[in-house]
Parts: sequence; C-alpha cells; structure tokens
Amino acid sequence: MSGIYIHIPFCRKRCHYCDFFKTTDLSQKVRLLAGLKRELESRASEMASEEINTIYLGGGTPSVLLIDEQHDLLKTICQNYLVSGDAEITLEANPDDLSQTILSALKGIGFNRLSMGVQSFSEADLKLMNRRHSVVQAIQSVKWAKKTGFANISIDLIYGLPDQTLEEWERNVRIAVELDVQHISAYNLTYHEGTVFYDRLKKGILKELPDEISLQQFEILIRILKEAGFEHYEISNFCKPGLYSQHNSSYWKSKKYLGIGPSAHSFDFNSRRWNVSSIENYLHGIENNQSYSETEILTEQDRYNDYIITGLRTVWGISEELIRTEFSASCLFHFLKIRDKYLNSGHVNCTSGTVCLSPVGLFISDKIMEDFMFVSNHSSYKSIS
Ligand code: SF4
Repeated sequence: MSGIYIHIPFCRKRCHYCDFFKTTDLSQKVRLLAGLKRELESRASEMASEEINTIYLGGGTPSVLLIDEQHDLLKTICQNYLVSGDAEITLEANPDDLSQTILSALKGIGFNRLSMGVQSFSEADLKLMNRRHSVVQAIQSVKWAKKTGFANISIDLIYGLPDQTLEEWERNVRIAVELDVQHISAYNLTYHEGTVFYDRLKKGILKELPDEISLQQFEILIRILKEAGFEHYEISNFCKPGLYSQHNSSYWKSKKYLGIGPSAHSFDFNSRRWNVSSIENYLHGIENNQSYSETEILTEQDRYNDYIITGLRTVWGISEELIRTEFSASCLFHFLKIRDKYLNSGHVNCTSGTVCLSPVGLFISDKIMEDFMFVSNHSSYKSIS
C-alpha cells in the first residue's frame, strides 16, 4: 500500500493560526503546476513496483485550482503510476471554493473523498481565525457535497480557541454530528511561531485557554463522537466504522509515500526526503535538473522512534513482537521498561502483545511518547550491557 501527496502551496488568505508552507501570491500558479507534473514524471521510478492506493491533494488550499488544473495532475499520476482501481482520492477544500457545479466536476474527474476546512461553526471564531468562509457556507457546502454523491466527507475542527467556552465547543461538535459526515479531525489550537496568533499571544492581545479547559473540550469531543457512533482511531481523528483516512493511516502505519511539491515529505522505510520550502528554489531545481530536496538515511533509532510516535497515536498501537524482531536489544529493553511503567500507572493497555494508549493516557500522550522515545546513550541499558 502506497500513497502520493501533492502540496499545493496557495491560499487566498492567511489564517491567523496556520504555519503550513503557503503563499497568497498566486502569480506562479501555472509555472508551479508544470513543475509538479515534471516532478511526478521524474520520480515515477521510485514507485515502479508499487500500487498507489491513496492520492491526496493538500496544502495550502488545492481547491483554489481550476478543475482542469486538478484534472491534469490526476491524469499525470494515472499516466505514470499504477493506481489501484479503488484508490482513495482526496481533495482538501475550503467551503467557499465549492458550489454544486464544482462539486459535480470534482466527482467527475475522480475525487471520491473531501477533506473540508470548516474549523468552527461560530462566526466569531471564524473571524478571529481569519477564515474566508461563513458558517452558512460551511454547512451548505457539506450538504451540497452529500447531495452530489460524496460518501466520504471529512471536516476539520479546532478547539482550545481563546475564550472558547465548553458550551460553545459542544455546540460545534453537535453540529458536526448532525451534518452526518463520515470523518472528523479535531485539533487543539497550537500557537506556532511566525503566525498572527503567536504574535498576539506574545503581545498579550490573546490569552491562551487554560490546559484544563482544552482537556475538558477534548473529553467532550470524545464522548459526543463515541455516542454518535464514531471510532476514535487516532488522537485527533474520528470516523464512522471502517472509514479511516486511508492516506493519513498510511503515514501512521509507516507505509511508503511520495510527497510532491515544495515542502512535501517522502518516506520509503529507509530514508526520509523533504523538498525545499520555497516555490522559487523548488522551481529552479525542477526546471534546471538540479537538486530541490534533502534526504536523510534513517538510523535504527530514527525508525524505532518513528514507529513509537506514529503507532502510539492510533488504535493499531505498538506491536511488541515487531519491536522484538525489527529492533536491537537496547530498543527492546527501553520499550519494555517504559511499557511496564505506563501499564502500572494505567496510561497504556496491552492486549495480545499490542500496546495502546488507554483512555486516560490519551490526555498525556505527548509525555508518554517522549518517554518511549529512545536515545542511544540511554543509561538504563548501559547498566546491564
Ligand atoms: S489553514 Fe489552510 S487555508 Fe488557512 S492559511 Fe493555512 S493552509 Fe491556507
């Protein structure tokens, strides 16, 4: 199982919380699309023996592209890669880019999944975040997408916003449930350096929501979505039975993927590669057959830590057997020691050799992952070696 991600680094407006690589200057759009096609063609050999099961146009805002431009990218993939007949093909879309006509066209060119950046059903929150769309547009676009026949729709929400009350957050989650979508991703607001929110926080214009309120919002989210029949399959992701994001799940399950476009990452089990986060440098490299990426060969420690971070995030957890067979005795020793610590405290469960976060562990997942990570000069192993 393999995937292709294409990064479209264009947005019509900057959201105040966002630190993704993007620009609101669309003047290089046509040139960039030519570059993306060239990268897709030139890297096809990396996936020569692989069936492509997921394609994901993300960004940025790929819904700013014209239908013909999106179609061109999908056609280039199909012409150069072995795409499975039932591949999951996702478009990230902003609600205000969608109309019934556009949704029909998107379905017609092959998209079978939409990931919609809704973020909130409160006008005040949308304004605070500098989102382009209104609440009415968000609700309308989900309804249109369903009417058009999209049977796999995901919406993104953000909690932990400044001054957001528990009641306001609960209302958001309940509206999402009423819309009867198949997938919901909900993220706790992070103040990334370089964003407007970060500056306002530093200047005292915004006040961070206390951690205990964000945690209660997380609890509300989990409770309501579970009651509504969603599976909580990754820390921030919920789906109707079986309807996981196959593309994102392949990141969490360490499957091979190709990342196309500026700032996109690729992974092939032994190495990680990332393209430059600059449209100009990316295009200069592509157009002149020069390098536009860096590659890192993964050490055993990197692979172990990646497996821990991605595995613990999900219901599929960490396999003790895999740690035993794939990693050295020092990794195994460290893993077992931390596993026992968190089994005793009730923060992880272990069933048939698979270690997962327990419901209480979910709330301190960052700390648990940090403890499980392995640093090669770990003193606990030295003492027995
Ligand atoms: S959140 Fe999405 S739409 Fe907003 S600036 Fe970031 S990439 Fe663009």
